[in-house]
Amino acid sequence: MDIDCIYAKSTCPTIRQWWSKDTVAVVTGANKGIGYALVKRLAELGLTVVLTARDINKGKAAVESLKEVGLHVVFCWLDISDPSSIDSFASWLQQTYGGLDILVNNAAVSFNEIGANSVVHADTVIQTNFYGSKGLIEALLPIFRQSATASRILNISSQLGLLNKLQNQAWKEVLMDEQRLSEEKIEQMVLQFLSQVKNGTWQEGGWPKLWTDYSVSKLALNAYSRLLAERHKSRNLRVNCFCPGFTRTSMTRGQGCHTAEEVADVAAMFLLLPSNELPTGKFFKCSSSKPRSKI
Ligand code: NDP
Repeated sequence: MDIDCIYAKSTCPTIRQWWSKDTVAVVTGANKGIGYALVKRLAELGLTVVLTARDINKGKAAVESLKEVGLHVVFCWLDISDPSSIDSFASWLQQTYGGLDILVNNAAVSFNEIGANSVVHADTVIQTNFYGSKGLIEALLPIFRQSATASRILNISSQLGLLNKLQNQAWKEVLMDEQRLSEEKIEQMVLQFLSQVKNGTWQEGGWPKLWTDYSVSKLALNAYSRLLAERHKSRNLRVNCFCPGFTRTSMTRGQGCHTAEEVADVAAMFLLLPSNELPTGKFFKCSSSKPRSKI
């Protein structure tokens, strides 16, 4: 996946509106943080937005707070680490809207403090960030609408999961071999990491050094995104990854270089690029400190 695209709000192009109220966008993990800010931005721009959350009360409270500022979004419960929740969400979406146009896989967990590196929760991190997002994509793929304006999947990822963070040469070669990359190989990599966590040898595994379990989950998500992008080119489904950069949310215990709202502005602009300008299989980085765009 190319990783050379850096957007800053000041350099983002003004987007010609191609969407309407009938354009349906789903955002996961949207009761707070970047997901919430992105739902708000998309609603302001006039799409039909489905705010999903694993905690029903938090999700409903988020919808209410948007109502207070005049924005109407729809809530549906979705825990991406629970296959039955994914199934019922997919059925609800199909029954309610007949399908979707945009999916933002934003939900994720990390249990590390800044500067710490524990893998105690590696199973949960991998199950949520990689398998959860993958499971949701698989369940929704059949109901993505096909249209000339292109349907879109944006996986909110992290530069911590870029290939240059991986020192394990064997896995690097597997991930870089685009012709032979497969879901099975990506899952083998993840399973090897988890088995090394269990037997206590992960530190010699050549895995990313920072927030290792989280980084491996995003490494796998990036690779899976590249695979999907290639596979669904012909049906006009664009699949990209987006790294928000260090952002002040719960995940970073409020630390960061920019706000969730700033990130959401940039993510929305990228997500809603006209189809003739929107690539597929790319990794985009949001950075307000580097005002340049290579797109
Ligand atoms: P937050 O912790 O603020 O938000 C994460 C959201 O994901 C919460 O709504 C949380 O719900 C939800 N979530 C967690 N597990 C599940 C699940 N199983 N099912 C459904 N929802 C779930 O984090 P951010 O807003 O910072 O993170 C958003 C995305 O951005 C993530 O993908 C993250 O990896 C990525 N990112 C963030 C960076 C940053 O600096 N903040 C940097 C790089 C990437 P609940 O409230 O119930 O816990």
